Amino acid sequence: MPKYLIALDQGTTSSRAVIFTPDGQVTASCNREFPQHYPKPGWVEHDPRDILESQVEALKDAVRLSGIDAADIAAIGLTNQRETTFLWDRQTGECVGNAIVWQCRRTSQMVDQLKADGYADLIREKTGLVPDAYFSGTKLKWMLDYYNVRDRAERGELCFGTVDSFLCWHLLEGRPHVTDATNAGRTMLFNIHNQDWDDDLLKLLDIPRACLPKVVDSAGPIGLLDPAVLGRAIPVTGMAGDQHASLFGQACLGVGDMKNTYGTGCFMLMNTGDRPVRSENGLLTTMAWRIGGKPTYALEGSVFMGGATIQWLRDELKLITHASETEGIARSIAGTGGVYLVPAFTGLGAPYWDMYSRGTLIGMTRGTGRAQIIRAALEAIAYQSADLMDAMIRDSGKSPARLQVDGGASANGFLMQFQADITDIPVVRPVVLETTALGAALLAGLGAGVYGSLEETAAVWKPDLTFTPKMDEVTRRLQRKGWQKAVARSLDFAEH
Ligand code: ADP
Repeated sequence: MPKYLIALDQGTTSSRAVIFTPDGQVTASCNREFPQHYPKPGWVEHDPRDILESQVEALKDAVRLSGIDAADIAAIGLTNQRETTFLWDRQTGECVGNAIVWQCRRTSQMVDQLKADGYADLIREKTGLVPDAYFSGTKLKWMLDYYNVRDRAERGELCFGTVDSFLCWHLLEGRPHVTDATNAGRTMLFNIHNQDWDDDLLKLLDIPRACLPKVVDSAGPIGLLDPAVLGRAIPVTGMAGDQHASLFGQACLGVGDMKNTYGTGCFMLMNTGDRPVRSENGLLTTMAWRIGGKPTYALEGSVFMGGATIQWLRDELKLITHASETEGIARSIAGTGGVYLVPAFTGLGAPYWDMYSRGTLIGMTRGTGRAQIIRAALEAIAYQSADLMDAMIRDSGKSPARLQVDGGASANGFLMQFQADITDIPVVRPVVLETTALGAALLAGLGAGVYGSLEETAAVWKPDLTFTPKMDEVTRRLQRKGWQKAVARSLDFAEH
């Protein structure tokens, strides 16, 4: 019986490969960074060759490093930066141009037009998404227009895909043109209710169906890795966008289970089961995954300035030299003394959605110093996440029993304790913090039959530390009230 599962985690700044044992231990991992391209202000691109090469190198290096035999690899799972858009020739594989990265704002005006024309509700209803330039749909339209290739796309000569599709086409035998339901769900072209590309939206954006990939389950047979890569045709049996894989890797399989990833930004997802919940608080309705043809849905919200707030303390204010210093400094004082930092540097997302709010440091007195500001920055990450959690609870009517956490800033024990205190919900950090990669490996293991059931995959998840809420209710209410007041002061500040 082959012993290992491999996750390929194709991210925004690097491509990773992580080798797991079926009980979730990391055997080896490799990371390959690749260049970012910013051809104009607000534009972000990746060279498709960099994506492919860095991913293949990471895979080969991880296998070499681990010393395992390719014959011992049971299956491979893919997870990826979402929404980034590729368009390539079905014969040669050559892309028409660089990939347009999710962060790229070049189609903002197109989206503004769609909203001005009154399509926001239709898009929201069908895709669960709030129309935005993030999503692939307008990026693909831009490519078809700019490269003047719509007729070729109509004739089926071109393939559109997100990173998962692009990698499958280039790395699997027989070049399948596929995507999984979680990735499809981020294109703004996919109807999450009937699980098919939506003809009305395709018409709206003038996108030919002939260039779209086939939508497959997140776990199940997808194809075989080209033997040219590792010398053996290894089954690829799992595929999901990064946040969805992380929800799966956190074993958030039950309705109301939720996770928060504390990276540069924070991404919070709550499993809402077979029911797509429409948010009244500006959250996205998204796929959790699709297994055995059965869709599971989630609510998703993000904090723009998560760990990035700590980078700001380090790089701009020069208050610290390493992110990890913040924990001891925050603990060295009993509180911020009423100081709040609202890191609305680029506006605020859900549940406020105010692009004109700006960073606000408020409540300072003569005694306010470095430690108070640093602590306020950490607390701000937790307050913003708490606001998202409240929105999810209001929308879904479900109160989670705990919050499962991962990502770089989840290493900060002060932040995790404060998160538990301010939400009054235990915060649980697992042993394996690489939950995105673990999720992809678990999906692959499920798809390959290494695990016989969802429950067996969930058993792989192991808690490490639990942060139990300790703050009394009166303090909690006061603190949150102060935060709300601070947010109110930050709103609608930039000129527009
Ligand atoms: P990403 O995947 O978005 O690049 P990571 O999960 O690697 O992010 O996390 C990096 C972020 O976490 C950085 O913004 C960094 O400032 C923050 N971070 C890392 N360690 C700590 C820490 N101990 N305390 C607070 N923030 C931290």
